[in-house]
Amino acid sequence: MKLKPGVKFCLFIVLIGLIGLIGFKYFKKDAEKIDNSLLKEHHISEKYASKTLEFVLKNDLYEEKYLKEYAKINYREEDDFATILTTFLPKGYQGEEINYILKLSKTNQEKLAKLEYQDIQNYYKIKNFNVDNLERYNAYYKEHKYSYEDVVTYVNINLDLPVYTNPHTVTDGNSNLVLVNKYNCLEANYTPSDLAYLKGAYGNEVPMREIAQKALVKLQEAVTKEIGITLLPTTSYRNYNFQKTLYDNYVAEDGASAADTYSARPGCSEHQTGLAIDLKNPDTPASRRLNDSDYEWLKNNAHRFGFIIRFPKDKEFITGYQEENWHIRYVGEEAAKIIYENKLTLEEYIDLYITNY
Ligand SMILES: [Zn+2]
Repeated sequence: MKLKPGVKFCLFIVLIGLIGLIGFKYFKKDAEKIDNSLLKEHHISEKYASKTLEFVLKNDLYEEKYLKEYAKINYREEDDFATILTTFLPKGYQGEEINYILKLSKTNQEKLAKLEYQDIQNYYKIKNFNVDNLERYNAYYKEHKYSYEDVVTYVNINLDLPVYTNPHTVTDGNSNLVLVNKYNCLEANYTPSDLAYLKGAYGNEVPMREIAQKALVKLQEAVTKEIGITLLPTTSYRNYNFQKTLYDNYVAEDGASAADTYSARPGCSEHQTGLAIDLKNPDTPASRRLNDSDYEWLKNNAHRFGFIIRFPKDKEFITGYQEENWHIRYVGEEAAKIIYENKLTLEEYIDLYITNY
């Protein structure tokens, strides 16, 4: 049979392709193929053959009772692969669970290694999962029925614990991301070292951290240019004793439980960081801070200058405070953008983006 040269060429190309494909397959099979003589030596059926099985046989880690599990465990060329197998198989973890454990952070793997078997299948994919909090996650999930992701975040930020009991002492007071709330409080003597001043709504000079002051000047210029209003600080940095007087007065007036919803206890106010600023539009009556349209601008633009609305509506259960549309907090532009775009609180942002578990 005579073929046209064009057809011949096509067949030739197809043939080359087939040879390549078969070669590749053979090569690949060879890479996955395990040493059958090893299996024979241990009287193991070929149906259990896997890289992990080969690994344990070659490294003298083989135990017959885990034969079915070896087949399920994805082999990993990592230094601690052997340790993971010999630590978690005896605790009763199944092959699939060991695959989850292999995906956890080293810190979490080490914490888990110290415990008896734990059922973590609902949590292993969650990036801010912390083995230390496992029991609290389970209890909180039962009580609230949030998603497992939310449960992990909310427990990590301590929402399952009563406020103001054994608050953590904040040591990074000078960080732009310092978290001060009802679970994290500053020491009485903490004072920012770089206070700068800005003219306030009541003719006062308002002290705040220099970085916040510079950013606020830019925000003020923008709000005037864009919607023609003025925003002035009423208060920003407040020292421990000032906050104490303020809080004590509110308690005398309203009682502690009411006061706690709108005023921080001394040491636990982020005004002590010098990064929180209360604003007022001086053209509104004395009893009002902002008009709705002022807040609308602030809510959607503060992040451009590194600020966030710290106590937004619908997040009261996280921040522990009633909505305060006038209270902004400097966190830096990068954090502010993420917080704004993802509708987060500072608490959630730090847990999801900053803390390593
Ligand atoms: Zn405030």
